[in-house]
This record gives sequence, structure tokens and C-alpha cells, in this order.
Amino acid sequence: MPRKALISGITGQDGSYLAELLLDKGYQVSGITRRSSSPNIERLTHIIDRIQLISGDLLDQNSLVAAIQQSEPDEVYNLAAQSFVATSWRQAELTGQFTALGVTRMLDAIRAVNPKIRFYQASSSEMFGAATPPQNESTPFHPRSPYAVAKVFGHFITQNYRESFGLYACSGILFNHESPRRGLEFVTRKVTNAAARIQLGLQKDLAMGNLSAKRDWGFAGDYVEAIWMMLQADTPKDFVVATGVSHSVEYLLEVAFSHLNLDYRDFVRVDPSLIRPAEVDYLCGDSSEAQRAFGWKPRTNFEQLIAMMVEADLERNRRNPAAVHFVSGV
Ligand code: NDP
Ligand code: GDP
Repeated sequence: MPRKALISGITGQDGSYLAELLLDKGYQVSGITRRSSSPNIERLTHIIDRIQLISGDLLDQNSLVAAIQQSEPDEVYNLAAQSFVATSWRQAELTGQFTALGVTRMLDAIRAVNPKIRFYQASSSEMFGAATPPQNESTPFHPRSPYAVAKVFGHFITQNYRESFGLYACSGILFNHESPRRGLEFVTRKVTNAAARIQLGLQKDLAMGNLSAKRDWGFAGDYVEAIWMMLQADTPKDFVVATGVSHSVEYLLEVAFSHLNLDYRDFVRVDPSLIRPAEVDYLCGDSSEAQRAFGWKPRTNFEQLIAMMVEADLERNRRNPAAVHFVSGV
């Protein structure tokens, strides 16, 4: 009998890579999608015939119970969230409903239908916030945005249900991970898409926020392997997943633009409205515990990742410039 997995957030970046990985491993894959007026399966079109999509929403407990009953999973991966930090100040309450309480709803749905299901929670390095790097599993959290506060709740409720009810529930504390499928508002994709559009004459300049922030950026395709490995261990445990190498936003600009023989200084201007109310200055993860426990290591370095993203954005913009037009103000 094939193993069965249910993914919330399957239409997102990580959901699409994880679905591919699980299909390759012979899983029967189901995913929860929320209702929208037009289909939102752009990242899944290449595997759409091989997965089952079930309508549901993290804001609706009954729909989560029904999705678990229908898909009968051995493993649930809770990737769904309002995942963009900047939006979390403008929609703080909604972010709490999705990103914090949504985790409780999913855990309660598992308890109600089948407490033997293994549960993965998508925790985030944003929880470390202002903590001094390198950050690992023992670093205390100091969240700096409503998003990060909500993720801390999700992290601790997962731990609490593990301790209270004996669920197999664990969290991966993943540092930023990117890909050609990353949402356009995140800084890597915003930059690679703009560099491609400037090269093609479709865009003139690029407004940016804080250029000195540093992130530990990895490739999403590598990170979903760690997510799956975590759920295969005999006992549930939380792990940091990171590359251990950090770069500034300014270096990101340099790498992306120079890949196209452009100098970013000719095109980039800092827009004060894009500076956040509170910033996370410096994230750099120590994932040696994950390496020791299940042998996970990243395969893609930063320069390879950005080159891959710039090339994909060049191709996409050549094909259909309107589809990847940058939305200003984020
Ligand atoms: P995306 O923003 O690409 O995807 C988010 C997914 O959540 C989408 O499928 C979205 O659906 C879904 N979703 C949002 N709200 C709801 C809801 N109310 N009910 C059902 N589904 C909902 O995120 P990523 O793939 O990048 O990230 C996956 C998870 O990992 C997220 O929880 C994120 O916070 C976390 N994370 C990500 C990191 C990263 O660097 N990528 C780092 C650390 C943690 P729709 O398509 O309908 O909008
Ligand atoms: P985050 O780490 O989850 O907030 O991921 P982002 O990709 O949204 O942001 C990473 C860092 O880039 C943060 O420190 C932002 O302040 C910084 N940054 C600078 N300019 C921009 C911008 O124009 N857009 C975004 N999204 N981030 C920016």
C-alpha cells in the first residue's frame, strides 16, 4: 500500500516541491486548496493529474476534519500560512488567525480523526528575529513581526500537543529558502525578476527597502528533502534547516544584476516606505543537528540559486511579460 500524505499550502512554493518529492517516493499525495474565483494551481500544472486537491481552509475547522477523513493520510504537512512578513503588520489579526490558530485547528483535526498521523509544522527562522547568530535549536526566540509572533505560537502549540497528547508532531525551523517558484513579493524573486525585466527593456528601475539586512538563503528544492526526512525519524524532534552562509540584500543585488552584466547601482533606489517597522538584521542558521540526525546537507549554493532564478525569470518574461509584472508597494 502506498503511503499517503496531505499537504496544506500545496499551491505555494514549498507545497509544490514537496508534492513532487513525495510523488517520486511513491506516495499518494493530497493537498488542501482554499476557494478562489479563479484557479490558483500555476505551480502544480506539471503534476496536477497525479495529485488530489481537496477544498478546505485553515480558518475552517470542519473543512480540515473533512480533508483528513477524505485523504486518510499517514503524514500531514502543514505548510499553509500568511507567509509574507511585510503584510503581517497590515493584516496582523488575519495573520494570527491563519498562521497561529490555523496550526491548532489542524492539530485538533488530527486528534479528532486519527491521532496516529504524523504532523509537520512549518516553523520559521523569523522566530529568532533579533537573536544573535548563528541560531540553532537552543537559541531563544525574539520575534520582530506579527508573522514571527504567530509562527512562535504555531511552534509551541505543536510542541505542546506532542507533550500533552503524545502526537507525533514536530517543527522544522527553516531559514529563508527560495526558487524560481518563490512569490514575487519576496526580496530574492523581486530582485531576480526586476533584473530580468530591466535586461529585456520591460522595466526601468527598482525600488528597494533595507539593503543591509542579512539572510541565510537556501534552495527550496533542497529544503523539502529535510522536511520529509524529519518525519521519518523514530521519535519527533524539531530541527533547524539552513545553509550556514549569510549574505546581505546588497550582495543579492550584485549577484543577480552582474549575472546579466548589469551594475545594480544604475537601477536601484531605496524607497523609505519599504523599510519595515521592525527589522530582522541578521539570520544565519546552524543546522549541524539535522546533519548529525539524518544526514541532511544543502546542495545548492547562493550564487547557483540566484543564477537559476534570474534565468527562469528571463525565460518567463520573454514568454509572457504581463504575467510577471512586479506589484509596486511591497
Ligand atoms: P507560500 O506563500 O508560497 O505558500 C503559502 C501557502 O499557504 C499557499 O498555498 C496558500 O494558498 C496557503 N494558504 C494561505 N492561507 C491559507 C488558508 N487560510 N487556508 C488554506 N491555505 C492557505 O509559502 P512557502 O511555500 O514559501 O512557505 C511554506 C510554509 O513555510 C509557510 O508556512 C511559510 O510561512 C513557512 N516558511 C517559509 C520559509 C521560506 O523561506 N519560504 C521560511 C520559513 C518558513 P493560496 O495559494 O491560496 O494563497
Ligand atoms: P523575510 O526574511 O521572510 O522577511 O523575507 P523577505 O524576502 O520578504 O525579506 C528579506 C529581507 O530583505 C528583509 O530584511 C527585508 O527588509 C529586506 N528587503 C529589502 N528590500 C526589500 C524589498 O523591496 N522587498 C522585500 N520583500 N524585502 C526587502
